[in-house]
This record gives sequence, structure tokens and C-alpha cells, in this order.
Amino acid sequence: MKFTQWLFGAGLAVLAVAGPVASQQNPSWAQPTEPFNMIDNVWYVGTAGLSSFLIKTSAGDVLLDVGLPDNAALVEANLAKIGVKLSDIKILLNSHGHFDHSGGLAKLKADTHARLVSSEGERYALEKGVYPGSESSKGLSFPPVAVDQIVADGGKIALGGVTFTAHITPGHTKGCTTWTWPVKDKDGSNHNVVVFCSASVAANRLAPNPQYLGIVEDYRATFAKVKTFDGDVFLAPHSEFYDMAGKREKLDRPGANPFIAPGAFHAFVAGQEAAFNTTLAQQQQAGRTAR
Ligand SMILES: [Zn+2]
Repeated sequence: MKFTQWLFGAGLAVLAVAGPVASQQNPSWAQPTEPFNMIDNVWYVGTAGLSSFLIKTSAGDVLLDVGLPDNAALVEANLAKIGVKLSDIKILLNSHGHFDHSGGLAKLKADTHARLVSSEGERYALEKGVYPGSESSKGLSFPPVAVDQIVADGGKIALGGVTFTAHITPGHTKGCTTWTWPVKDKDGSNHNVVVFCSASVAANRLAPNPQYLGIVEDYRATFAKVKTFDGDVFLAPHSEFYDMAGKREKLDRPGANPFIAPGAFHAFVAGQEAAFNTTLAQQQQAGRTAR
């Protein structure tokens, strides 16, 4: 039995990859929470721990990420609560093809008939429903879903006057995709949403037998690349990455929207980069010891 460390933000949980994930995952991942309007046309429709974002446009809606397989029903219930019909959803986007962010995509695609857009690097994980490089870990698998359209780095997806830009930020997964798009606050000021895919090491092997060839170089390139991003509305697949709960409580207060947090994205990435360097050194040391 091999144990793998999963690093999600500040929280550290140890689980057996070969064992039943459902009983050992963070309970907040499957915990229902009320949907709410985050900023402009962006709505939170996920669970307490796993983000799903619904973006309303004049030509239909876009849904980004659908948590665990069993979370699909919770997301659909949240959509109904904010008056969104499943047939309103025209496009499905995803951050990356891990079971905790793409597990519910197959059901949402079947129920909405929306077009699923993905990077080329995530296609294999999504269409096989596996964790690439750990295909035998059944606890990490999820219902496979067919990709309808591939988006390249810098590629644009437009619907109803909203244009989403895909930024391939690999490492956490080979095709990890960070999405950005412009929003306005109540006062009409312009802001930029950045849904950062993640650069945590999670269940990844970095050394000496990497999860995929070039993974370490990919992480380093991603850390360098995103330093140039200017998104001041920082969001992510895990709600604790951007303190969703704390910011939600402040939404009713006067003043700027609490989800506008200049500097928050870069501070978060700096933390993930430090954690990556620590874990890489640990894995390299363990590899040398085992030899
Ligand atoms: Zn992941």
C-alpha cells in the first residue's frame, strides 16, 4: 500500500490512493451550500469545498467545473435555485481533468447537451476518466466525458458578449487550464477574473519516476508565466484557495466587492511555488534514499 500526500491549500490530508477515496476526502467537497452571485454575471453553484462557476450571458450560460461525480445533482439543484434551466447552459469549461473538478461533467453534459471545451492536454484524462500516470488508482477515476472542442493556449471562447481566454498552465496536470475574463463591479469599474487551475503537487510524483515526462519543467514554467497575469478577482477550483466563505459573508457590506482582491492571486501562487519546491526536494531525497 502506497500513501500519497495531498496538499490542498493549507490543509494536509493523507489518503491511500488505492483505497476508497469517497470516505477519506475532505467532507466539504460534498457538502451543499447555497448558490450566490459573486460579481457581475458570475454565480457560485458548487459545493462548500469545490467550486462550480456559472457565467450568464445574453446568449445562454457557461458552466466551469462540476466537482465530484455525486456533486452533479447538487450543482443542478443550485442552478434551479437561481432560475437557470439546464437547457440554458451552452458551454461547459473545465480547469483540469481530476475527479474532484470534472467528476460531474458527464452528467451535466448529458442533461444540458452543452459543448465541452478542453485543452488538448486534458482530453485523455476527461475521455478516459482517469488520473494520468496513476490509471490503476480506481479511487481517482470518474465518469468519462467526450470533449467537443479543443482550445489552445491563448485561445478565446466567446458567448453572448463574454469572451473567455484559456491559458495553459501545466504541472498540476498536463493541460491544466486557467481561465480569465473581464467583469464589472457595481460602480462600473473594470476587473479581471482569473480562475487559476492550481499548481499544487497533490497526488503527483515529481521524482524520480515523474507522473508525466517534463512535469517539473512544466510547474516551473507555469510559476514564471502566471507572474505576468493581472487578474484581481482570484478564483480557483478549491473554494478555500480564495476564501470563498469569508468573502461571501462580506458581500452585503457597502464598498467594493470583496472578491476584488488585488495581489491575492500572486500571493497564493507564491505559496504554491514554495510548497512545490519543498515537496520536490522531499521526493528527490526519498528517491535517493530508496535507491
Ligand atoms: Zn487537481
